[in-house]
Amino acid sequence: MRVTELIESSKKTAFSFEILPPLKGNSIQKVYKVIDKLWEFDPKYINITSHHSEFIYKTLPDGSYQKVNVRKHPGSVAIASAIQHKYGIPAVPHIICKGFTKEETEYALIDLNFLGVHDLLLLRGDVKMLELGIDPNAYHSYATELQEQVNNFNKGIALDGSTFEANETPFSYGMACYPEKHEEAPNLESDIFYAKEKVKNGAGYLVTQMFFDNQKYFAFVDRLRAEGITVPIIPGIKPVVFKNQLTVLPRIFRSDIPEAFACELRKCKDDTQAKEVGIEWSIQQCKELIGHGVPSLHFYTLMASDSVHRIAREIY
Ligand code: FAD
Repeated sequence: MRVTELIESSKKTAFSFEILPPLKGNSIQKVYKVIDKLWEFDPKYINITSHHSEFIYKTLPDGSYQKVNVRKHPGSVAIASAIQHKYGIPAVPHIICKGFTKEETEYALIDLNFLGVHDLLLLRGDVKMLELGIDPNAYHSYATELQEQVNNFNKGIALDGSTFEANETPFSYGMACYPEKHEEAPNLESDIFYAKEKVKNGAGYLVTQMFFDNQKYFAFVDRLRAEGITVPIIPGIKPVVFKNQLTVLPRIFRSDIPEAFACELRKCKDDTQAKEVGIEWSIQQCKELIGHGVPSLHFYTLMASDSVHRIAREIY
């Protein structure tokens, strides 16, 4: 079954989470450990994040520096396949534009098709590649361009315009949306316009950026529904685990921290206390979302799988 079917057929609010591929060269066992820990909550599918490569400066023995290109967390395609085969539920690799050329994406789609992984999350990724002086034409600029490539692939049209026999099992996919506006969008209306484009052109569902104020999610969903968007809009939940996330998360993800939550975090003496406050906030947030009838909850588990376990124990 596809992600949307799994969500729609779930008797209770569906549960999903995302994992990060291990650091380059590290074992996949750590990934399995996270999944095993959260397995009791019956995840309907598991997302695997993708990461572009970046330049780092390596110090050489003579004290000079060498600029080297590294992909710190490679292997999203292979991990998706490994998870799907080990656990028997869909694995959803994130396919990003930035850091992967259009051609690399085409080869990834071919691999994923052979591996039987047909659910994707299509994203732009961040923009650092442009800062690295690499030919921007080799990359898509926006997630909607990547979406067009995937749609063409589904129809049997390759990047160079040549045609091939269309796959028996086309890719289906979700895409991102932003209840508090994407950092680069001139205004929320503009973001909503592109969310509509994503759905009009085939996104089966939308997953939100993390948010901590449910009222913003509810208002956003009402707005999208008024625009005629009927697909599931899955809330993305991020448990706060570090005290400094009080300022880091609003800066990086443009997610406001409501004053009641900020106030509790400010009182924390250390990260151990902040983690407890974060768990409690997420539990209350999830309970309210479930009460509101959301179709599914998607958890950002990075550095937070223990917290997600405790939250899930309370709400499922
Ligand atoms: P887009 O939809 O391309 O939007 C980017 C900006 O451009 C927005 O302001 C939008 O309004 C605007 N826009 C969109 N289309 C157009 C257009 N055609 N013309 C002009 N403007 C346009 N990042 C990673 O690197 N790896 C991951 O695995 C990853 N996973 C994520 C999972 C989720 C659920 C979410 C919400 C985000 C994730 N991200 C990930 C981060 C994401 O890549 C960033 O938020 C990125 O800045 C935007 O991605 P997008 O797909 O929303 O981009």
